[in-house]
Amino acid sequence: MKITNVTAMILRTPMKKPFTSARGWWYKTKNAMLVKVETDEGIVGWGEAYGPAEITKSVVDTLLKSQIMGENPFDTNILWEKMYQRVEDYDPQGFGVAAISAVDIALWDIKGKALNKPVYELLGGAHRKTLKPYATGLYFWEDEGDFITPSVEEALKYKELGFKGVKMKIALPRKQELKRVEKVYEALGDDIELMVDANHGYNFVDAHWLGRAFDEMNLTWFEEPISPHDLTGYKELREKLHIPMAGGENSFTRFAFKEIIDQRAMDIIQPDICCAGGITETMRISAIAEADGVSLIPHVWGSAVGLQAALHVMAALPPAPHSWKPAPLWMEYEQTENPFRDDLVTSPIVQKDGIVTIPDGVGLGFEINQETIDKYRIA
Ligand code: MG
Repeated sequence: MKITNVTAMILRTPMKKPFTSARGWWYKTKNAMLVKVETDEGIVGWGEAYGPAEITKSVVDTLLKSQIMGENPFDTNILWEKMYQRVEDYDPQGFGVAAISAVDIALWDIKGKALNKPVYELLGGAHRKTLKPYATGLYFWEDEGDFITPSVEEALKYKELGFKGVKMKIALPRKQELKRVEKVYEALGDDIELMVDANHGYNFVDAHWLGRAFDEMNLTWFEEPISPHDLTGYKELREKLHIPMAGGENSFTRFAFKEIIDQRAMDIIQPDICCAGGITETMRISAIAEADGVSLIPHVWGSAVGLQAALHVMAALPPAPHSWKPAPLWMEYEQTENPFRDDLVTSPIVQKDGIVTIPDGVGLGFEINQETIDKYRIA
């Protein structure tokens, strides 16, 4: 089989209600950068890159496409290295790797479709057929007053929908933020787990101050409390606090994750399959993490394409540790308004009673809804 065409495309829609996290970027639009890889046998694969769409599209168009045209889509390791060699000297961590991720995911989709198997089978099989989704939300909207009432209402909505975990964004000055977290925690009660995600918006002192309070509440994890560049700071927080430290959504390739793992900087690493290097690279990262006893729970934030790719990887992640009754794997399920999550594929993922089932269709397990592409495609 040979690759005959590679098309990178951008889908875009305005948000009805722009929001932000601690990063302070206002999400005024939702975007998806999708890659469609075509073959001489008529089999088509889909992938997605996480991050600024115009740049990742440009990397695919100008650097990666020429590297894989005419090649065999089954050669995922070889093509990964070929693509990485093309970007490594200029962008070893970042847009280049995100663009590779999109192509790599599409190649795995093709392999699955060609063999008539779900991708998780090609990864060695499913250690689990279900995941435990947690709702990511509780962002910041303008004009929210004390930010507490809308946060509590939103958290309770997720509880009502059946989620067993909720991850809230935190970003306010520490005392104000602690009050907000306490209110959400009290509203959710004991049977719903609460994670907090600071998107590296605090310095060490504030993160430590908040972390001590989170320890008292037994929160599930503290995500990106401080800068991802400060691995020594993460290590110190790990030593001083009980709450698990999580991070990695803005780290790329096995090389960056090896550094985090070697330094024992985090309890939970969160590579995003759509930017850390695709399915191929995330499985390599998983092997390093497992060997060193670090948990891997992918970051997921995109369209249905990236979401379903993540589900196949999560099915194939080894239970770490192997045990009689391993804890179910958490799955990030972002809940802000997003037609590319809900309308892009003919069989979107559903959460029911706190469970999501791994898709078992061929390839990544979906058919693309062309109408959605036609409606939102801008480039
Ligand atoms: Mg995060």
